[in-house]
Amino acid sequence: GKVLVTGANGYIAVWLVKDLLEKGFTVRGTVRSAAKGEHLKKTFASYGDKLELVVVDDITKTGAFDEAVKGVDAIQHTASPFHFNITDPQDLIVPAVAGTTSILESALKHGSTVKRVVVLSSTAAVQTTDLEKPTVFNENNWNDKAVNEVETKGKETSPFDSYMASKTLAERAAWAWYEKNKAAIQWDLVVFNPPYVYGPIIHEIQDLSQLNTSMGLFYTVVLKGETDDQTLVKEGNNWIDVRDVSSALVLALFKEEAANQRFIISGGTYKWQDWVNAVRKVAPTLPAGNTSYKPEEAIHEIVTDSSKSKQVLGIKYRTFDETAKDIVADFEKKGWWP
Ligand code: NDP
Repeated sequence: GKVLVTGANGYIAVWLVKDLLEKGFTVRGTVRSAAKGEHLKKTFASYGDKLELVVVDDITKTGAFDEAVKGVDAIQHTASPFHFNITDPQDLIVPAVAGTTSILESALKHGSTVKRVVVLSSTAAVQTTDLEKPTVFNENNWNDKAVNEVETKGKETSPFDSYMASKTLAERAAWAWYEKNKAAIQWDLVVFNPPYVYGPIIHEIQDLSQLNTSMGLFYTVVLKGETDDQTLVKEGNNWIDVRDVSSALVLALFKEEAANQRFIISGGTYKWQDWVNAVRKVAPTLPAGNTSYKPEEAIHEIVTDSSKSKQVLGIKYRTFDETAKDIVADFEKKGWWP
């Protein structure tokens, strides 16, 4: 089969391309410029023409993906901005929403061979923030709070709230589009909602300043070893290994029963000290951080419930130790750390 991966040069997407190629799929990846495809070509040179790259320079344009969707069996839509370098929430919302509806429209018009469209959303579209008490979130929850923030604050909205709104609005747009058009299409929709994604890096990066947002955070907070003791034990979120995201996206192509559902995929909660402890097992030179931390006593404000993904898809998640070990090995190999 042939799978279209949008934003094929991204942190998560390169792992996905790798997994798909290893599983025997032919992959057509979209990138914003030919230059952004060079690293992919080199990385997967041994697969020859099983990896095709096409340039889609503006995903918000109507018909942007009309050519790209032709002849593929499935679509994995991952392209969406995840950064905070904005002056207006619309800088994130427009490409997130229009990119999503644009690919669905192209699949409707030209995707006669498509059987499934997978959209990579986020727990940013599920969980709210600034909670008064610890809260468990599941697939019934939506982060409309972030959307309201944008509606009331406009340009004054924080970049983080703007990002969460972009993911909520994009996923809502996908489901609304699906409801409206389902009678006219022969494919179904699957959505994944991962929290912070950590793990080794195989996409193109010249130096640490180019790390993607989630690994940039991991590097700054954990590996620099400069975070204060209170932050290390009080702050955290939910996380998943990048390779588990990729496995889930691939698995979605094989599981009929995933049709028309969203899935939270998460390895669990963390406080930053959990990562410091896991990293120190393989890299004891990292400062010990907060030695009074007791994981079993930590209070996690946000808990994203991934039980549905385990039941329906049978996904198993990597542990702190597995992921930390591989991040350390990767950063050491690249000469980025310690
Ligand atoms: P990256 O920044 O590494 O990749 C983002 C990809 O999207 C790149 O291919 C990028 O292309 C493309 N992209 C960004 N903005 C635009 C735009 N305006 N028009 C066209 N393409 C664009 O991030 P990740 O791999 O982390 O993110 C991939 C997806 O996963 C996103 O949808 C993100 O929301 C989601 N996600 C990520 C999480 C994480 O912790 N990393 C957590 C949950 C969800 P280019 O290189 O040309 O900019």
